[in-house]
Amino acid sequence: MKKYRIAIVGAGPAGYFAAQALQNLQSDDRKFEIDMIERLPTPWGLVRSGVAPDHPKIKTVSKVFEKIATTEGFQLFCNIELGKDLAVDELTSSYDAVVIATGTSRGRKLGIPGENLRGSLSAADFVPWYNAHPDYVDVDVPLDTDTAVVIGAGNVAMDVARMLALEPKELDVTDTASHALVELHKSAIRQVHVFGRRGPEHAAFTSPELRELPKLEHTDVEIGECDITDALERATAQGELPKEVKSNLDAMLLVAQTPKKGNERKLNFHFLASPIEIKGKERVEEVVFAINEVKDGKVVTTSDTYSVKAGLIISAIGYEADPIPGIPYSGGKVSNKDGQVENSNIYVVGWAKRGPSGVIGTNKSDAASVMELLAANLKEPKPKIDLASTLKNRGVVHVSQGSWEKLNAAEVAAGEGLGKPRVKFTDRKEMLGFAG
Ligand code: NAP
Repeated sequence: MKKYRIAIVGAGPAGYFAAQALQNLQSDDRKFEIDMIERLPTPWGLVRSGVAPDHPKIKTVSKVFEKIATTEGFQLFCNIELGKDLAVDELTSSYDAVVIATGTSRGRKLGIPGENLRGSLSAADFVPWYNAHPDYVDVDVPLDTDTAVVIGAGNVAMDVARMLALEPKELDVTDTASHALVELHKSAIRQVHVFGRRGPEHAAFTSPELRELPKLEHTDVEIGECDITDALERATAQGELPKEVKSNLDAMLLVAQTPKKGNERKLNFHFLASPIEIKGKERVEEVVFAINEVKDGKVVTTSDTYSVKAGLIISAIGYEADPIPGIPYSGGKVSNKDGQVENSNIYVVGWAKRGPSGVIGTNKSDAASVMELLAANLKEPKPKIDLASTLKNRGVVHVSQGSWEKLNAAEVAAGEGLGKPRVKFTDRKEMLGFAG
């Protein structure tokens, strides 16, 4: 029987699904020993620091991750940074294969004047701030303004907008970071405007998320009915409506037609507008938009503009990978062919491989096909290395699966009594107290 040792770098959904795929590829003749390496003291990646706190159902996938992690042959090494605590070539020389599953953590830039003003930030900073990511606790999120603008017509923009527009009491029973909850309770924001640069027919929202909007109890959601009927007309003129587009437009029409409750908190959706400038002296005061129109199915920018007074602008326009030294990147992701990096024993899965698209489950089939390729390329197994001892000899503290289980239990216990699923730690020192 051959025993192969695989290092997976990144303990998010793509990493766990890669591990699961390897576990499924085991046979009487072939076994995999998997070491999962994670920079943070905690695993679960975007399930912990990306998924919106008011979407707890999505987070139940963590049960699958824990089943994978407690399967024989799997070891977790959190608090280990590739490029700092371990070099890429150390991994490639001592493991049969290395799988990069580090996602895309940098927010794309709008590239417009005023983007660096205080009060202008990326969802890539705001989302981990409200999700208790230890590196984002001190992000400056000025909420002392009555109006916020969110740029982008995707599900991240939707999460960001909901988090700003919800009555904060609704978040008290979630695992929103304690520091963020305090700030959200003090927030002066009552109006959140979401802007898509194309029409509703091109929006990247998905319909389950849109269908939640009319159910918000303390926030009135407004979409112009004409925006949707015009979009329907344009889209049907182009031929048969794709199923998802129809489902999205139906959901948006439902939002537009739902009677408003007269709530002070409002969430408005606008389309065919591109931000061209952010104005302000010390901080964001106004966002200027160019008006776009659809001509022959194409979106074109007109010379007409309008502006919105707002003290906060959050762009949610996609992500790119934060490069790891020693791994080739292009276009914001790891350079690869079908998940393999330059005929090497390095593979890549998830958003680091294909860019920031798809839901958590998309990573399952994606990782499975890359792991099949990895398995097909394996030759004679390399001699066993003991990563735990290597790290110990270097004085590097890691959080093992057992330590993580203790930390996890402590967070869950802290939430009990408060009616929350957990209270997340944000202090690395406190988290590392569970190590060993
Ligand atoms: P996304 O779905 O790709 O949406 C990005 C949005 O940004 C698009 O509307 C895009 O418009 C817009 N955009 C890009 N560049 C822009 C610019 N310069 N100016 C103005 N707008 C710009 O990305 P995402 O929202 O980051 O989500 C990433 C993935 O995670 C998606 O697959 C999403 O469904 C998934 N996700 C799912 C959930 C959930 O299931 N609840 C939650 C969060 C995220 P164009 O289309 O015109 O380029």
